[in-house]
Amino acid sequence: MLSFVNAESLDGWLDGATPSDVAAATELRASLAVLLRAHSGCALDAGAVGAAEAHLRQVATRYPLIPVVGADACALVPAHDGAFGLFARVLGAVTDLAYRGAWARAKVCKNDTCHTGFFDKTRNTSGLYCSPACSSQASMRAYRNRRKAA
Ligand SMILES: [Zn+2]
Repeated sequence: MLSFVNAESLDGWLDGATPSDVAAATELRASLAVLLRAHSGCALDAGAVGAAEAHLRQVATRYPLIPVVGADACALVPAHDGAFGLFARVLGAVTDLAYRGAWARAKVCKNDTCHTGFFDKTRNTSGLYCSPACSSQASMRAYRNRRKAA
């Protein structure tokens, strides 16, 4: 199952994370995980994708990005420091992936014991597992289940 965000794991990204930062990060992560699960073709509750999209649209107003236009380069930079800036960078990275046509390649591993997020590098975006080991485990599990059923 997807691991939860906690103060310790968020501290690696952000010094001095507050409980409300952890709660916001958990919600942001949960919404993004729903979309990654949709990319992987996982079964989701009805309305889960719409709710995740609505949540991300709503929180994006709290984590704005500002265009910095220069002669040689342009970039979107977070309007805030701290947790809000970090969350803005995450949403900016997602948007950048989408602009590059690669957002659908961000997925969650379909191995029941893994569910790690991964970037699908297959030619036709058909990857379902984060690694050959997970693919093997899932294949073996499916084989055993078929044998039990027979
Ligand atoms: Zn995996």
